[in-house]
Amino acid sequence: MARCGGAIMGAGTKVQQELGVEDDADALYNWVKTCVNQNYELCPDDIIRTYAEHSGENVNWLQQMCTDYCGRDLFELGMAVENEGAQGNEATGDGGNGVTAGCLNAVGCEYDKFGISKAEAVARSHWAHSEGNAANSGPELFEPLYENINGKIKDGVISAEFKTALSKFITDEDGTVIGVVATTDSGSINIKATKGVMLATGGYCASDDMKMKFCQEALPYTTYMCYDCEGDGINAAMSIGADLYNMCNFYPIEVAQVYQYDPQYNDVFNSWLNMDDEGYMEVPAMNMAECHGGVRINTDAQVLDINGNPIPHLYASGNDVGTNIFGIPGNYPGCGCYVSFAFAYGRIAGQKLAAETAAE
Ligand SMILES: Cc1cc2nc3c(=O)[nH]c(=O)nc-3n(C[C@H](O)[C@H](O)[C@H](O)COP(=O)(O)OP(=O)(O)OC[C@H]3O[C@@H](n4cnc5c(N)ncnc54)[C@H](O)[C@@H]3O)c2cc1C
Repeated sequence: MARCGGAIMGAGTKVQQELGVEDDADALYNWVKTCVNQNYELCPDDIIRTYAEHSGENVNWLQQMCTDYCGRDLFELGMAVENEGAQGNEATGDGGNGVTAGCLNAVGCEYDKFGISKAEAVARSHWAHSEGNAANSGPELFEPLYENINGKIKDGVISAEFKTALSKFITDEDGTVIGVVATTDSGSINIKATKGVMLATGGYCASDDMKMKFCQEALPYTTYMCYDCEGDGINAAMSIGADLYNMCNFYPIEVAQVYQYDPQYNDVFNSWLNMDDEGYMEVPAMNMAECHGGVRINTDAQVLDINGNPIPHLYASGNDVGTNIFGIPGNYPGCGCYVSFAFAYGRIAGQKLAAETAAE
C-alpha cells in the first residue's frame, strides 16, 4: 500500500460533499455489483453491501488521521476545483492519475462496458495529494497510518515487530486460533494471540509456487506488488481448513510502466523496486498486478472453512481475501477499490477482534 498510486474509493465522503458530488452507499453497492458480478456471481452480495456501507466513513477517518498525525491535508480540494471536478476531464489528464486530474475522479474502469459514459460515472476515487507533485502518492496515503502506529508504539499502547513472518497458525483442540509460528532472523518463535489473528499478508503475486498450484496462466508474469507477498497467509489458513475462492484472477498489465513517487520516501517506505534520484521506478512488461484470489470471509471478516463455518479467532482482509470486489480483468470497479476493500474489512476485523473473548 505504501507504494500504491494513492487512490482510495469511497461513497458519501466529505470530499465528495464539498465538491458537490452526489453519492451514497446504495449507489456504490449497485455499481460494484454491476461490475464485479457481470457474467459471473463473483462476489457475495452481502460482502459488497458491507464494503459499500463502510467505504465513505473510512475515507473520512483516514482524512482526519492525516490532519491529526501528519499535520497536513490528505486531499487537495483546490486541485479538484481547479480541474473542474475531474469527471471525464481529458484536458487535465483524467485518464491518468490523481495529481494531474485532481483529488477526486472516476478512473480505472471501462464504464462504457457497463452501459454508462465516463462523464456519467460518479467520481469516487479519492487521490492523496502528492507533496512533491510526483505522479503517485501511495506514501502520502499510507503515512497517516504509519504515523498513527508510530505514535501508539511510542506511547506504549501497542508494539510492532518487523521481520517477523507468519508461517503457521497454532490452534487449540476446538480449532480456535490461539497463536502463530513466525520466522525471524534468529529462528522460529511462537506468538500467543488470546483474542485472535488478523491475516493481511497481501496475497500471492510474488510466488511462482502458488501460481503453479492455482493459476498457471500467471506464470509468465512478474509482479509490481511487494516481493514478499508470497501467499504465506493463504497457505497458513489453508493448512487449518480455510476455503479458497477466486484463485486464478489477477489484474494483468501487459506493457512496461514507469511509476514516479516523491524521492523523499525511498528510505521511509522501502520496497522491492528502487527509485532513481527523481523518484522514478521502472516496472517491466507482463506485470501481474494485484492478485484476486484468497480465503473466503463473511461480513464480519471471519475466515470460513470449506463447510462455510467461521474458523474461530481468524480474520482476514485485503489481497489475502478471495471473496472481494475486484472482479475479473476489465470488470474492476475503479481506482482505489483495493485499498478501500483492505480498509473496510481490516477495520471490521479490528473491531471484532477487540470484542472477542480472550481464549485461555
Ligand atoms: C504500483 C502500485 C499501484 C497501486 N495503486 C493502487 C491505488 O492507487 N489504489 C488502490 O486501491 N490499490 C492500488 N494498488 C493495489 C494496493 O496497493 C493493494 O491491493 C493493497 O495494498 C493490498 O493491501 P494488503 O493489506 O492486502 O497488502 P499489502 O499492502 O501488500 O501489505 C501486505 C504486507 O504483508 C507483509 N507480509 C507478507 N508476508 C508476510 C508474512 N508471512 N508475515 C507477515 N507479514 C507479511 C508484506 O511485507 C506487506 O507489508 C497498487 C499496487 C501497486 C503495486
